[in-house]
Amino acid sequence: SPNLCRYNLLISDFTMLYKGITASFGIAIGKAFVIEDDDICMVKRSIGREDVKKEIEKFKKAVADTKVELEKTKNEASRHLGKKYVKLFDAYLFIAEDPILEDGVVSKISKEMVGAEYALQEVIEKSTKAFEKIKDEYFRERGKDIYDVGKKILKHLTGANKKTLSNVTKNSIVFANNLTPTDTIALKGENIIGFATNIGGKTSHIAIMAQAMEIPAVVGMKDITTKVSHNDTVIIDGSEGVVIVNPEPETIENYRRLITNYIAEVKELDRYINIPTITADGKGAIIAANIEIPDEIRSVISHGAEGIGLFRTEYLFINRKEFPSEDEQLESYKTVAEKIFPNPVIIRTIDIGGDKISPHFGINVERNPFLGLRAIRFCLKHPEIFKTQLRAILRASVFGNVKMIYPMISGVDELRDANVILSEVKHELRSKSIQFDENMEVGVMIEIPSAAITVDVIAKESDFFSIGTNDLIQYTLAIDRVNEYVTHLYDPFHLSVIRLLKNIIDAGHKAGKWVSMCGEMAGDPSCTEILLGLGLRHFSVASTSVPRVKREIIKTNLSEAKKVVDEIFNGDGRDLKGRKVGSKVMRGFIPD
Ligand code: PEP
Ligand code: MG
Repeated sequence: SPNLCRYNLLISDFTMLYKGITASFGIAIGKAFVIEDDDICMVKRSIGREDVKKEIEKFKKAVADTKVELEKTKNEASRHLGKKYVKLFDAYLFIAEDPILEDGVVSKISKEMVGAEYALQEVIEKSTKAFEKIKDEYFRERGKDIYDVGKKILKHLTGANKKTLSNVTKNSIVFANNLTPTDTIALKGENIIGFATNIGGKTSHIAIMAQAMEIPAVVGMKDITTKVSHNDTVIIDGSEGVVIVNPEPETIENYRRLITNYIAEVKELDRYINIPTITADGKGAIIAANIEIPDEIRSVISHGAEGIGLFRTEYLFINRKEFPSEDEQLESYKTVAEKIFPNPVIIRTIDIGGDKISPHFGINVERNPFLGLRAIRFCLKHPEIFKTQLRAILRASVFGNVKMIYPMISGVDELRDANVILSEVKHELRSKSIQFDENMEVGVMIEIPSAAITVDVIAKESDFFSIGTNDLIQYTLAIDRVNEYVTHLYDPFHLSVIRLLKNIIDAGHKAGKWVSMCGEMAGDPSCTEILLGLGLRHFSVASTSVPRVKREIIKTNLSEAKKVVDEIFNGDGRDLKGRKVGSKVMRGFIPD
């Protein structure tokens, strides 16, 4: 039965099985690469006068090695993700070369006659502390950079540097407490075949990045890094959210077979790439893809998506020391628009905040970031940043089929405020005779309950909608989307969610506007029938989910799907739970 967790059938020793949250599909068998907690703690080591020179040389060599390592990571980032991503590494290199750091360490070694590693630790701590006191968020964050760079030098100094992400060996499965955006960039190499983290939830951005990278991932594993040791053999099953440490040979055999089946399933799904998306009773639908970085466009096209339903531009803004300039943004948007043409791309204005924090933008650490100064709220507070992006998007609009969307709109007033700024920017461009598409459609993400409830009002001033279920569910059910302790309560089938979806889709269509869905729910095949029954025709999903969702649409009979939805609304609301448990859940590829 598809409802049986497959590991029940496959594994002979349960003591080494750990459950987390599914973040990205697929199965991998490899060696554990555990990233240690990185607190610095060096013991004070006294040295003799005759050793001073040697300790100083040791320190200088560690700095030189660190610079080599940073250059290497920088080149990799540039190769895999484009030149824009190298700035962070330039900033790190700048710190590593700073004479103040060197002078501080050298004078400590020679005056206090202590080991290089202790001297370095003291200097880092002192400057980090000094930075912590600074009120200005930007400068306070620079303190963290010094700490990061200091840590890297320290690792070279103590020889503990064998385990940085940029030198993982082949077939590694990375285990970490959390992965920062910098880590994730380093993860993009070919050696890493999966990863598991202690923290995170299904729709956290670690999970979204893993899907973009097309490798299995499990998040929210609480303390997995303490359960697995470096070089252990591990199986990661991203589709079940399971990690098995040092499995029995029999278990490995079983999973090998499963991988073969999985590959066969992916191959089978290939058949759906080039055929039209039409329901069993002949009604058309459109499946587009979500992207985070322009590089993903290759995957979008190879999986047969009909356009980009969501371009999350904030990934151009994180991992950086400065704002991307208007021209740099234009370059990214233009590239994407040209490559996907004649299909459309929906560019979303930045959604910074929540779990997508970018420290240098003067964002304060907030107690409830998901309820804080996020997305459009941030942009309206910083119109100069917003305007730069709007100019870049408008200028890109002449290079393809470009549409734009605002995230986190809570009601019509916020939409009007954003549109006032958009009009100013258009006016400015016209006065300078800079070309843009005067008819560029501008839509609204519906992802806050207040917008979902007032969507009929918003519809009068919006060209289209896209439903962001990741946030809509989070805010409707009061479930933090990145908190692993409440993930089991995150329910796309909750009656409240279904009612809101119906309200959005009906109101949008009544106003003659098209309605898309770009949250993770759109990519979950167990939701497809109900979404079709609710009237949804535009889906935007991770590119790897395109064929799977298409297969589901092709199998679905729309009139039957409508009946199912009618039953839900006429029933007592419990129906849905039954369906969810009893129907084709995501584990569709378990061999029968
Ligand atoms: C959503 O909230 O569903 C969405 C698509 O946006 P993000 O995941 O980037 O918040
Ligand atoms: Mg959202």
